[in-house]
Amino acid sequence: MTNRPEHYLLTPGPLTTSMRVKEAMLTDWGSWDEDFQALTRQMRAGVCKAAGVDDSYTCVPLQGSGTFAVEAAISTLVGRTGKLLVLVNGAYGERIVKICTCAGIAYDTLATPETQAASAEQVDEMLHNDPNITHVAIVQCETSIGIMNKTEEIAQTVKAHNRRLIIDAMSAFGVLQLDPVKVPYDAIIASANKCLEGVPGAGFVVVKTDALKASKGNCPSLSLDLVDQWEYMEKTGQWRFTPPTHVISAFIQALDEYEAEGGAKARLARYTLNKDTLVAEMRAAGFQTLLPDEDLSPIIVTFLAPDEDAYEFKAFYQAVKERGFLIYPGKMTEVESFRIGCIGHFDHTIMRKAVTAIQGGLRAIGVTNFSAGQLNSRAG
Ligand SMILES: *Cc1c(COP(=O)(O)O)cnc(C)c1O
Repeated sequence: MTNRPEHYLLTPGPLTTSMRVKEAMLTDWGSWDEDFQALTRQMRAGVCKAAGVDDSYTCVPLQGSGTFAVEAAISTLVGRTGKLLVLVNGAYGERIVKICTCAGIAYDTLATPETQAASAEQVDEMLHNDPNITHVAIVQCETSIGIMNKTEEIAQTVKAHNRRLIIDAMSAFGVLQLDPVKVPYDAIIASANKCLEGVPGAGFVVVKTDALKASKGNCPSLSLDLVDQWEYMEKTGQWRFTPPTHVISAFIQALDEYEAEGGAKARLARYTLNKDTLVAEMRAAGFQTLLPDEDLSPIIVTFLAPDEDAYEFKAFYQAVKERGFLIYPGKMTEVESFRIGCIGHFDHTIMRKAVTAIQGGLRAIGVTNFSAGQLNSRAG
């Protein structure tokens, strides 16, 4: 189809998509045309189904990468009038803080170390002490190192205090399911190009319709105003501004494949086998994971970099790329690391080849011992 080399993305979005998802982009749609309006309706319904919500929720799609949807949700729902408590233990929690700073939204933070999730007790204390907090934002799986946060317990605490929860579920939506009955939330945010295996270019917010309506006039931004986007879409069937037509068409195909595979359960099983294969084979070769087994997610795994002078991420990356795989740099501040994504359109047999490519790549740049050594072993 192209003369580009075939490679797999071991990155948590954009990720490897199926050929049929790519082929779904070979048509040009008119943005106001009924055919594209039907695609938009189908996409919104498919996302609500994947979220497992009843009709008190609606899906508002938004152009752009996932961050655009996060910024839109925070700006619209918390906006000018609310105060947000942000749980921070990595880059995506930090990003929500930055969103508040840029938009002039009142906030406070509950920060824990990168390798530690905030507890429900900590949230309880902060909500008890600050009645001005209206909303809490949590990152379900902090993709920075792949740690799972305690979303279910914290959702109960937030509810007990009669505050509202906004979940950045970007990296796990469609796989690690959050039942809105057990995990009461006002909004959950994700994008087309993570576990649903679409292409990048659109995000979405599944939001309680009454909370959305109550937020009218609250958003300090025009293009990120979800109420405006939703009202226009409900009225006309169209997007407010130029829609990512090809992305949505690919997303429909990706949602069809998600259903055909068996939804969240089957996809979680495939990603878990990817992760288990990766971790077992990497450990057998001498690598160490940053997190202990109980904290590992089937989304992305952080490995400690080998403790040899010959190791250099860029050269390593290039050598692995030549072997057919794109890997991800680490996002840790304290120890040198790299990350391997487990999500995307591939299975454990490909993951096994990836581990071979990682080892081959390291040997090619002169690294022979893959252990992180004594220095870093306390982290693993
Ligand atoms: C990918 C991701 C985002 C969005 O990142 P973009 O680069 O804007 O797509 C937000 N939160 C989490 C947890 C993510 O994994």
